[in-house]
Formats: sequence, C-alpha cells, structure tokens
Amino acid sequence: MPSLVRIWRRSIQTRVVTSTILLSTLVVALTGWALLRDVASGLADSRRAAAVSEARSGFDYAQTQLDAAVETEPSTQSQALTQMVDSLTRSRGAQRTYELVLQGPLLTDDGEVPIRSSAAIQPRALPADLAAAVRAGPGTFWRYSELSLVGSGSVEPSVVVGSQLRAPGSGDTYAMFYLFSLEDQQDTLDLVRRALLLGGLAMILMVGGVAWLVSRQVLDPVRLARRIAERYASGNLEQRMHVSGEDDIARLSTSFNQMAASLQSQIRRLENLSRLQQRFVSDVSHELRTPLTTVQMASEVLYDSRERFDPLTARSAELLKRELDRFESLLSDLLDLSRFDAGAAVLELDTIDFAQVARRAADDPVLARAGITVRLVGVERPALVEADPRRIDRIVRNLLANAAKYSGSDVVEVEVAQNAESASLSVRDFGVGLSGDENIRVFDRFWRADPARTQGGTGLGLAISREDAALHGGTLQAWGRPGVGSEFILTIPKPEGSAKHPPLESVYA
Ligand code: ADP
Repeated sequence: MPSLVRIWRRSIQTRVVTSTILLSTLVVALTGWALLRDVASGLADSRRAAAVSEARSGFDYAQTQLDAAVETEPSTQSQALTQMVDSLTRSRGAQRTYELVLQGPLLTDDGEVPIRSSAAIQPRALPADLAAAVRAGPGTFWRYSELSLVGSGSVEPSVVVGSQLRAPGSGDTYAMFYLFSLEDQQDTLDLVRRALLLGGLAMILMVGGVAWLVSRQVLDPVRLARRIAERYASGNLEQRMHVSGEDDIARLSTSFNQMAASLQSQIRRLENLSRLQQRFVSDVSHELRTPLTTVQMASEVLYDSRERFDPLTARSAELLKRELDRFESLLSDLLDLSRFDAGAAVLELDTIDFAQVARRAADDPVLARAGITVRLVGVERPALVEADPRRIDRIVRNLLANAAKYSGSDVVEVEVAQNAESASLSVRDFGVGLSGDENIRVFDRFWRADPARTQGGTGLGLAISREDAALHGGTLQAWGRPGVGSEFILTIPKPEGSAKHPPLESVYA
C-alpha cells in the first residue's frame, strides 16, 4: 500500500491516467444510466399504448356481447361469459400476448365474486388500486405490475389494463382485466444494457490508453529535463537538451539550454573572480611580508630600548611591537587560507598518536603561565592515525589557546578516544560557553563573539583549524552551553576509515 501511495505521489502519468479513467467512468455511467432510462420508458410507453388500445377493442367486444345477451338464467349466463372469455383469448391463437381475467358479477348475494381467466394467474398480478378503480366506475385504467402464473416460478414485468362492463339486462357489473407481458421489452432492454456496458468499458479503456499516450508525449521531455537538471545540480553543466520542432516542448528545451549556458558562464565568471580575489589576497600578503619584516626589526630595536624612553614613548614601543606581531600572524593566517582556497595546501603524512599529542599539549608552559590545569582522559592507550603532525599540533594548540583566551575557565579537559574508523581528540572547557548558533559561527572567517575583546586574535584560527581537519578527510565540530562551557572535537579518519561516526560524543550535544 505505501508503494501505491508513493507511485501516486511521484508519477504525474499515473495521476493523469487514473483521474481520466475515473472521470470517464463517471461520465459513461451517467450517460448510460440516462440512456437506459429513456430507452426503458420509451419501450414501456409504446407497449402500454398498444396494450391499452388492444384492451379497449376487447372491452368493446365484451360490452357488445353483454348488451346483446337477453338470457337471465344464471347458468346459461355464466356459460355465455365463459364462452366470451374463450373467444376473446382464442381469437389471436398462438400469438396471444396477454392473459384475460373477468371478475363478476361483482355484487353477488354471498359476497363471492366468480372469476374466469385464460390461465391460473397469481392474484397479486392484479394491483389492488387498479381493481378498486375499475370497480368504482366506468373508464379504462392501467398499471404496471408483475405477471406470474400459479405453479410457475417465473415473474415477468407486465402492464395490466382494466375496465368495468355492465350487463344491461340483468344490471350486473363485471371487471375485466387484460394482462400484457413486457418480456420482449425486457429482453430488448437487457440487450441494450449489455451493449452499453461493453461499449462503455471499451470506451473507458480507450480513453485511459489515450491519456497514457498523451501524458507520455508531454512527460517524456519533462522527465528528460528533470534528469538533465539533476545533472546540473550535481555540477555537470555540459549537458544540453535535444531541441526539435517549434512547439512548447521545444521552447522549454531551448530555455533550459539557455539557462544552463547562462549558469555556466556565471559560474565561470564567479570562479575567475574568486581566483582573482584569492590571487590578490595571496599577493598582498606576500608583498606585505618583506616591508613588515623590516618594520618589525625596527620595532624590536625600539622595544628593546624602551627602558631608556619616557613612559609615553615606551608604551608606544610596546603597542607597536604587539600590533606588529598581530599583523604578522594575520598575514600568515591569510596566506594559509589562500593556500587552502587555491587547493595548494599539501599534507605531509606521518603516523601520530593522539594520546601523545594530548600529553604534549598539556605540558605547554603557556597554559601553566595562564594558570590553567589540564585534565587528561583516555591517554593511556595509543590512538594512532596517519596525519600531518604540524597541522594536528596547530589545531590542538589553537583549541587550547582559545580555551585559555576566551572561556575564562581554569580547568581544561583533553580527552582521546578511538574506534575502528577514526580517532578523536576533544578539548573541553568550563567557561563562558557558546550560545545560539555560535558553535557554527566560530568557524566563520573573521568571526569573533566579542570583537572588543579580541585578545590579539584574528578570528581566523578556527577557520584554519577546520580547513586543516578537512584536508585530512576529518572534522572539527563545536558544541557549547552558555555559562557552562564549550567542547571542540577533532576527528581524523584512520587509513581506509571515515570520520562519519566519531568515537567521542560531546556532553553538550
Ligand atoms: P582567533 O584566531 O582570533 O582566536 P578563532 O577563530 O580561534 O579566532 O575563534 C573565533 C571566536 O570564537 C573567538 O573570538 C571567540 O569569541 C570564540 N571562541 C573560540 N573558542 C572559544 C571557547 N573555548 N570559548 C568561548 N568562545 C570561544
């Protein structure tokens, strides 16, 4: 069932064909029903008209017979009546299409009404209201009914025509009924119904087939367009749609091709622009390096002699040196990033042990000077990966320096763990933490939570660390809770492994 729902939701063709079939079934059913009703009432009406006129001539004949009768002896009168019924039913011989019932005289002393009929007819074949109308007075009345003979199971639709007769001699009244079978009309109706059903079915199938063909004609190019659009989405912009003719589909294909060409040229333009920008950043950083080194050397001289200056100049020399150091680290960060952007960064792989990296980082005198205690977890067992030792050290140093600079926490926990696929190293602090989407934004270039408190940072450290991790096919992710702390987890895949399922999960996740 779910797969049917899926097909219904995904395939326009299924929807078009199914709804066409449903709608045409409805139309065919309604038309068929109206047609059948018209045919049925037409057939019944014409048969009834013929039946009424046939019955009328019978009634006239019977009335003439009664008018002519002068006999008053009941037994001979009864004989005459039976003969009359016989002659009326015999007259048409084998072609007789009706049965005849004569009731009367209607008013007898003992309440018993004698009945003469051409066959043993079930009493319910004579509708009670018709019988009542006939008894009530003169005139010809008719009703549709069902004719069935005593001893036979078959029931045929019929039309019953009745009229009152009066014997002027005796003053008796009689009710005479003609029962015409509508069996032939029923057969014709059945035939028409079968023909309509078959014709309707064939038409629905044909309409369904046509809908399928037409929707295919329209949808094939759309499907082709979808496939090509998927290829564009996956970066392959070379593909073009085949254009033939001048119809809407051809125009769609042309617009599609124009869109692809325009996309391609825009992307090329942007790629060129981006390459130019990368080149510019890298060139500027390079060009600035030489004069910066000279200025830095000069500032070193001033800085070293600051004791001999008056306090204001000494302070200026200190500021000059600090900002020039920051400038230098900014330039080298920019150069690093431009190397990543240009795809020029290369890895110098070696086997390294994350446990050892963590121990070494913990011994960094900078942390001790900042009054930070490092807690090591999971460093008893080696966790070996193939990685560039310089880059891994840089990432870990950056994470620890950030914890020292920004978190305000005096304890930092470094944990190492591994599984068959990868090894992870986490740096967790218990300081200001990260709020909202800061765990994503910390990796943005030049982003700083509080630019006023830059602590000498450039806002590029984590961006570079993440590029370093990605260069290894690894990940660097951050989690945090405001006022509780933050955690950064570096995961590097083992050879043949992947960093998709890190062995460490953040406590803040
Ligand atoms: P920088 O190179 O200037 O240190 P980073 O890219 O390393 O910049 O960090 C960017 C910003 O992320 C920092 O300015 C700081 O606001 C925030 N940040 C980094 N580490 C932490 C941390 N452990 N706790 C709180 N904030 C942090």
